This record gives sequence, structure tokens and C-alpha cells, in this order.
Amino acid sequence: MIKIPTKVLVVDDEKDFVEMLSLRLKEMGEQVDAVYNGQDCLTKLEGNDIDVVILDIKMPGMDGIEALREIKRRFPMVEVIMLTGHGSAESAVEGMKLGAFDYLLKPADIDSLTEKVNGARKRKEEHEERIRKAEVRLLLRKVGEV
Ligand SMILES: [Mg+2]
Repeated sequence: MIKIPTKVLVVDDEKDFVEMLSLRLKEMGEQVDAVYNGQDCLTKLEGNDIDVVILDIKMPGMDGIEALREIKRRFPMVEVIMLTGHGSAESAVEGMKLGAFDYLLKPADIDSLTEKVNGARKRKEEHEERIRKAEVRLLLRKVGEV
């Protein structure tokens, strides 16, 4: 079976970590883009068809929670996985309450990464499928009314 790559955007101010995570995701067969702050994340989402954002919580300037709010407001179909160190797991849970799919504890081992990226992709596909079905029902109802 051919794997269709998940389009992942990695957002973290630690460049070494971004490089390592991007490499792992590419090895998993995903299509990876990376930026180093929240503002560039929003700009990137505008012009690109991204499925999943992996978003660091602690970043200078716009932090991960602020970026998450903005992503959910402007790109509600994009799934977000929060990235956190041991000290900020509470913020990660807050992120989930704001609509993030899940969170990953740094350094993000390969099993959790695989599981969470696949889970986020699946949730996005199921959501899109429900919307398509609802649109078809709506259309059929309109046709029936003619
Ligand atoms: Mg950081």
C-alpha cells in the first residue's frame, strides 16, 4: 500500500530540535515544513495545505498557546499537537482544552510521534468526511425541495 504523506508543519524556536524532529518525520514518510516562531507559522498556514502542526509551547514573542488560539480561529480544520518540556505539561493540557489534538513531551520519542501524528491525521480526515456527508445531505434535501 502506498502511504499518502501527512503534511506536517513543525514550529519551535530550538533549531536543533526542529532539525531532529523534521528528520524523524521525513523518515516516517511525512512531508515536512518548519518555522521557528508563531507568526511565521500563521503565515505558512495561509499559503499551504497543512494537515498537522506540531507546536512548541515556549517560544519568544507569540507563545504556543497564543499561536494555537489563532490557528483554531483562522484554520479550524488544521490539527495541532503541542510540544512541551516536563515543566509545562499543564499548558499542554490547557492547549487541548483550546482544541489541540494532543501533546508530545520533548524529546518526543519516535513511537509517540508516530502515534500522535497518525491520530491527528485520522481525526482531520474523519472530520472532513463528516462535513462532506453533511454537504451531500444538504444538497439532496435542496434537490428534493425543487
Ligand atoms: Mg521553545
